[in-house]
This record gives sequence, structure tokens and C-alpha cells, in this order.
Amino acid sequence: MQDNNCIFCKIANGEIPSATLYEDDEFRVILDLGPATKGHALILPKNHYADLYEIDEGTAAKAFVLAKKMVARLTDILGCDGYNVVQNNKEAAGQTVFHFHMHLIPRYKDDKCGFGWKMGKLSDKDKEEILAKLKG
Ligand code: AMP
Ligand code: ZN
Repeated sequence: MQDNNCIFCKIANGEIPSATLYEDDEFRVILDLGPATKGHALILPKNHYADLYEIDEGTAAKAFVLAKKMVARLTDILGCDGYNVVQNNKEAAGQTVFHFHMHLIPRYKDDKCGFGWKMGKLSDKDKEEILAKLKG
């Protein structure tokens, strides 16, 4: 299941060339063209799912297992000091390509990559509201 208008469908299925680090029947792992750090890679499923809301559980599980394998292998190759695994969903969360993908971002001591957020403080009101709504 591909979307004819989706660039990541075309890359994942080899219609557009990419710097491919890994490929199997269901996934392609490529180097990001706008890397946050050296070695920034993307895991792309070959089927089209817009985001985490759409992807089926089996494929999502396999994507994370693949992330674990790639992170282990690339840490050796790149000699990095850690990894961020990032996955954006919907425009509000910074998603710009609407084909599910996972970012594998190698981190190097003092790389000044700037990835992160300003920590807030969990309020009692938010905590109680969320827990109460989850319990239904
Ligand atoms: P996101 O903001 O989570 O949707 O991430 C999209 C990512 O795709 C960005 O990090 C882009 O640099 C990357 N990107 C966009 N087009 C291409 C492309 N043709 N090949 C490789 N990476 C791409
Ligand atoms: Zn697609």
C-alpha cells in the first residue's frame, strides 16, 4: 500500500535513490538529507502509514526492534556517545513528511545539537485530571 504522492513511499521502495544503510522486505533505513548530527538516519516502512495513529501494531513493533539493531550497529561505526530516537506525529509535533518514520539521531559529547525541551513542572491539577480521565 503506497501513496503515489508520497516522497517517502518512493524512497522506501527504491523509486527515488537514497543513501541506504539497511533494507529488508518491510523497511528501508536511509541517511537524512538534513542531518541534526553526523549519521542521522530515518527508518521508513515500505507501506504507507501517515503516522503513529495509522500504523498497525505489528509494523510499529518491528520498527522499534529495527531501531534497536541499527542503534547498536551505528554506535560502533560512528563512535557516538548516545542516541535520540525521535518520532513526530502531525504538524503540531513538527512532522513535515506525512509517511511514518523514526529518526535515529546519534549524539556526541558536546555536539550542541540543541535537541530537547524546556522542562516544566507537573501540576497537581494536570496530574489529577489526566489520571481521572484515563480511569474513565
Ligand atoms: P519530520 O519533521 O519528522 O517529518 O522529519 C522529516 C525528515 O525528513 C527531516 O529530518 C528531513 O531532513 C528529512 N528529509 C526530507 N526529505 C528527505 C529526502 N528526500 N531524503 C532524506 N531525508 C529527507
Ligand atoms: Zn508514503
